[in-house]
Amino acid sequence: MTTPPAAPTAPAPRSAPGGVALLVVAAGRGTRAGGGLSTPKQYRPIGGRPVIAETLSGIGGHPAFARVVVVIHPDDADAFAEATRGLAVEAVVGGAERQASVRAGLEHLAAAGAPDRVLIHDAVRPFCPAAVVDRVLARLDDSDGAIAALPVPDTMKRVDGAGRVVETVPRAGLWAAQTPQGFRFAAILAAHRRAADAGRHDLTDDAAVAEWAGLKVTVVEGDADNGKLTHAVDLDRADRRLREARYLELADVRVGQGFDVHAFGPGDHVVLGGLAIAHDAALVGHSDADVGLHALTDAILGALADGDIGSHFPPSDPQWRGVDSAVFLAHACDLVAARGGVVAHLDLTLVCEAPKIGPHREAMRARIAAIAGIAEGRVAVKATTSERLGFTGRKEGIMALATATLRLPPPDLDEDGR
Ligand code: MG
Repeated sequence: MTTPPAAPTAPAPRSAPGGVALLVVAAGRGTRAGGGLSTPKQYRPIGGRPVIAETLSGIGGHPAFARVVVVIHPDDADAFAEATRGLAVEAVVGGAERQASVRAGLEHLAAAGAPDRVLIHDAVRPFCPAAVVDRVLARLDDSDGAIAALPVPDTMKRVDGAGRVVETVPRAGLWAAQTPQGFRFAAILAAHRRAADAGRHDLTDDAAVAEWAGLKVTVVEGDADNGKLTHAVDLDRADRRLREARYLELADVRVGQGFDVHAFGPGDHVVLGGLAIAHDAALVGHSDADVGLHALTDAILGALADGDIGSHFPPSDPQWRGVDSAVFLAHACDLVAARGGVVAHLDLTLVCEAPKIGPHREAMRARIAAIAGIAEGRVAVKATTSERLGFTGRKEGIMALATATLRLPPPDLDEDGR
């Protein structure tokens, strides 16, 4: 009886989910960024949120990572908790230098089910493309370590303490190291432990620790976008980049107009701009007859090209009898949100001889802003008379005109090509 040759066994997929951890180093003090010295740069805002939140929702969201551990400074526990609310990350307190911080993160990972591989990344590199992570992981199939890096494009000079050029360093073969730096976990943990035991605390990145320990480390192509935010100008540039990107995401700017009239009838107050205002008459209508909110609602529906207030809330439907018109405006704003858009500006003009609008203008702006869920700075309320001409001049009713400016996600180019 002959034994068939053993079928070749496929190597286990080493980058399978569950096997890879991301270790983000965020324990630095970041004093080089200047200004606001009490806030390390990884907690400074870019595009409206802290750098570290941008980093963790960027590279930290890569599907390869089963665990994300962040090494933080003990003074930053509150800032970290605030910045990472809602993100599935673990925090561990780091050491005095980067090397000790990474070691603390590795020991934390080792203590609770060590991963096969670990990618170590700087918190202040928020724009690492997923393709860089893929390249690092792929290279770990045949290397103990693989680091993102870029060939040095500039001619390199070595200078003395006085700034005098001593020599030109040939740049052939020179690469500038970025992160992530990926390693087989057991190998980099052992290397860090050995370096610490040997009293080496001066190794400036994890590849240097690996090299010192004799591991085989390979470079893969990094990305120019994956730069480190080091100086204040880097933070400013990152902030502008994110803000511009967000504007481009909502580049379909729409303006809609609305118009409404309600007549006066018996009563002792009007509801106008969301407020009850004492008056010697009331406005007559099916709902609370808030002519201002009706015009604003129609302006938003106009910008959405989605019917009008009558088609969304038919006067024939008894459920809208006497209803607070805030319901209509809030619904129109919900339709904007459902399209992924925002209300950028609401502008309301009320035309009447009485009541006087001026004393109520600011309260009206605040109320409209609250209903629409936008800042008061995005709401204008204006009033005029019609010089006693026409029905408003004869005090028979109130007229309202409104415009709404919306910003919506651009339609697919193949939809209308605009
Ligand atoms: Mg109306």
